[in-house]
Amino acid sequence: MSERQLGFDTLQIHAGAHPDPATGARQVPIYQTTAYAFRDADHAAKLFNLEEVGYVYSRLTNPTVSALAERITHLEGGVGGICCSSGHAAQIMALFPLMMPGCNIVASTRLYGGSYTQLTHTIKRFGWSARLVDFDDLDAVRAAVDDNTRAIFCESIANPGGYITDLDAIGELANDVGLPLIVDNTSATPYLCRPIEHGATLVVNSTTKYLTGNGTVTGGAIVDSGKFDWAASGKFPSLASPEAAYHGLNFYEALGGMAFTFHSIAVGLRDLGMTMNPQGAHYTLMGIETLSLRMDKHVANAQIVANWLENDPRIEKVTYAGLKSSPYYDRIERICPKGAGALFTFAIKGGYDACLKLIDSVELFSHVANLGDARSLIIHSASTTHRQLSDEQRVAAGADNNVVRVSIGIEDPADIIADLDQALAKATA
Ligand SMILES: *Cc1c(COP(=O)(O)O)cnc(C)c1O
Repeated sequence: MSERQLGFDTLQIHAGAHPDPATGARQVPIYQTTAYAFRDADHAAKLFNLEEVGYVYSRLTNPTVSALAERITHLEGGVGGICCSSGHAAQIMALFPLMMPGCNIVASTRLYGGSYTQLTHTIKRFGWSARLVDFDDLDAVRAAVDDNTRAIFCESIANPGGYITDLDAIGELANDVGLPLIVDNTSATPYLCRPIEHGATLVVNSTTKYLTGNGTVTGGAIVDSGKFDWAASGKFPSLASPEAAYHGLNFYEALGGMAFTFHSIAVGLRDLGMTMNPQGAHYTLMGIETLSLRMDKHVANAQIVANWLENDPRIEKVTYAGLKSSPYYDRIERICPKGAGALFTFAIKGGYDACLKLIDSVELFSHVANLGDARSLIIHSASTTHRQLSDEQRVAAGADNNVVRVSIGIEDPADIIADLDQALAKATA
């Protein structure tokens, strides 16, 4: 195609895909193969030396998975990216080249429940740690950074509570302290928010959610902006010094802006094996073709449902950034100009038990631990996804006992409202 900059709707269909050179197949084939025949011994040596780019073994790269990685990279506006077996795998893989035992990250308190647990407990097994602070308090974020900090981590639209991170302010802070900013863009998707334009170094996505869009497969992706100077601070030896795990290659010296991507394939996927499979990539490639259409409908429906809930006397509070009453309403235009997403919480008058009754009374909504499905979903965070947290941590994460989280689907909005209406009647009777 010509040099002109293609629009988002075009890229979500075409980026990373070309008719198959062997057969002309127009859709990206599912390359269901583990290994790839080398042309000759010299070709094999060049591939292992990263002198030539090609396929070796599907734990590292696979053409179907590469097509998806390239597409998401284009949509996020980065220079390179990789796909992983899940969103959580992508988070570990994003941190892996940056961290050593004793290193920490500074992360927002407003996180997906699973990320909260991963960052506060599980990564300690690797000798890493996370300091969670309120990202609206920039002084606190700055104060939490020390000599062992290797990254700043937050979500663009934060799960679960209709919160929008001021990515411009956090991006500027990260730049000031010379650290990479990692943004989890799962709830927003690159259609609603492009974190790299606000200073993000790496963007992680759980492709399980909106990018696939129909609740079929788990997957994750990392996109690198290619803009971070990994050599400047001397804090990132895996990327900017001879890497012992890859015959002493200095990835940043050899590959510049592609250092993170190549390291993630040649060392990260090679040794951690958190690889996306080609079948999974296929489902996500199918879903991503309609991302913008679905997101517009998700946002429109979320706005209608949030407005309705806010005006209902049985509701105490709705935290959707698309409502004028939200303290984050003013951030939409700057951070996610196409809308505040379709994930929000509401508090009902009646507390914990009324929430459980509501969950048990819905008929159209599905009670599942997922979000970003074409279907409307509902969950009571306090008794499920945020169960492992203390009361205090739950409040900080926006998951108090009387709060339910909804992921508004793309059904007819009148039907979504009718279902909530009948379930609320039972819950508050
Ligand atoms: C679901 C989710 C994750 C984890 O992704 P998985 O694909 O389930 O591993 C991370 N962050 C956010 C914001 C999520 O919604």
